Amino acid sequence: MAVCEILSVGTEILLGDILNTNSQYLSRALAGMGISVLHHTTVGDNHARLAQAVREALGRSDIIIATGGLGPTADDITAEVCCKEFGFELEFNKEIADGIKKYFDSRGMEMPETNLKQAYVPKGGEAFENPMGTAPGMGMKKGGKCLVILPGPPHEMSVIFTQSVVPYLAEYSSCTIISHEIRTMGIGESALAELCSDLLDGENPTVAPYCKIGEALLRVTARAENAEAAEKLAAPVIEEIKSRAGEYIYGIDCENIEGAVVPALNEAGLTVATAESCTAGLVAKRLTDIPGASAVFSHGVITYANEVKEKALGVKHETLEKFGAVSEETAREMAQGIRRVSGADIGVSVTGFAGPDSDEPGKAPGLMYVALDCDKCSLCEKLETGKADRNFNRTFAASRALHLIIKALKG
Ligand code: ATP
Repeated sequence: MAVCEILSVGTEILLGDILNTNSQYLSRALAGMGISVLHHTTVGDNHARLAQAVREALGRSDIIIATGGLGPTADDITAEVCCKEFGFELEFNKEIADGIKKYFDSRGMEMPETNLKQAYVPKGGEAFENPMGTAPGMGMKKGGKCLVILPGPPHEMSVIFTQSVVPYLAEYSSCTIISHEIRTMGIGESALAELCSDLLDGENPTVAPYCKIGEALLRVTARAENAEAAEKLAAPVIEEIKSRAGEYIYGIDCENIEGAVVPALNEAGLTVATAESCTAGLVAKRLTDIPGASAVFSHGVITYANEVKEKALGVKHETLEKFGAVSEETAREMAQGIRRVSGADIGVSVTGFAGPDSDEPGKAPGLMYVALDCDKCSLCEKLETGKADRNFNRTFAASRALHLIIKALKG
């Protein structure tokens, strides 16, 4: 049976300034996976002592999980020291660097150059996505040994662990682990966590909340001697989540909202057409990313200028004059217009200020409206992200426009 060791890095743990809850969390989670944790080691942010601790751990354990010291400052040395001792080189990963930049952009902050240090990951190893922060987790395997490195903040560490490390360590586990991702929109991550707060304390299955742009997710992970038994444990918890948060759930185990919309339209035998202003075709693009979209998507127009909103969609001149292009009234008329001119069953529209600036005084960047028109209903949502980040706002609005389709189909 594989032997595991947890290596906590941080002088503040040695000084007693913080309690080592990461070790507690990891020990429990690993025990649940049937992986024996036989050593806990804590070491400060000191190059020589950390290197020695890694060497000793590698001498007696098969799996080492190190946490802490992945920050951007000079005393964050965990990745550098652990990789060197394990015989892996760190290399720059542009995709991760872009992700870190986006993380800062989406918070309206300038990325300090030092954060690019977090875009260096082991060559030939794995980088684990960090949905809650900037430092990715890392995994390396060599000669029957495995080394995992995770950021120190507990909420980042635990989400990377359940999302990426559990499957990464599956070969060492003496039980079968299954997990399901429940995806929601229209509710914030903390409100969703509050709705399910008692379930978050469960040990088997575990329920972990996290978020992506415009959506909140819950990952339910269960372990048992085989997949069937694990599914049996997960099922009642998933049902309970559905009963509490059903109105916000758009899919389980689907990759994204468009991946839920296209099959749902197919099943309902309905078609959709889109009219977009600030998202300039993003909704149409995302729908057509899904194979089989041609059966449900007929028509998409970009009506960026006001004259085109009038000419192509029949939005009334007075509506634009009185309420402005970014208004509920315009969004609704765009959705009605595209439905009429396309002959589709459902018309969907987006109009808004993607940022960084807004064209109208008193209307902030990130103010956007999404609307839907169909036989059974007419919907409109006002979105206010409070952000000036163009990419964030466009992704957010496109997702919420797609979500209106799910809402309409659910009735
Ligand atoms: P950051 O980028 O935030 O600096 P990091 O990966 O460098 O992250 P540390 O600087 O070591 O991590 O720790 C950041 C914070 O995470 C600590 O101040 C502490 O609050 C928490 N933390 C770190 N290690 C542990 C631990 N073992 N148990 C509980 N909390 C921890």
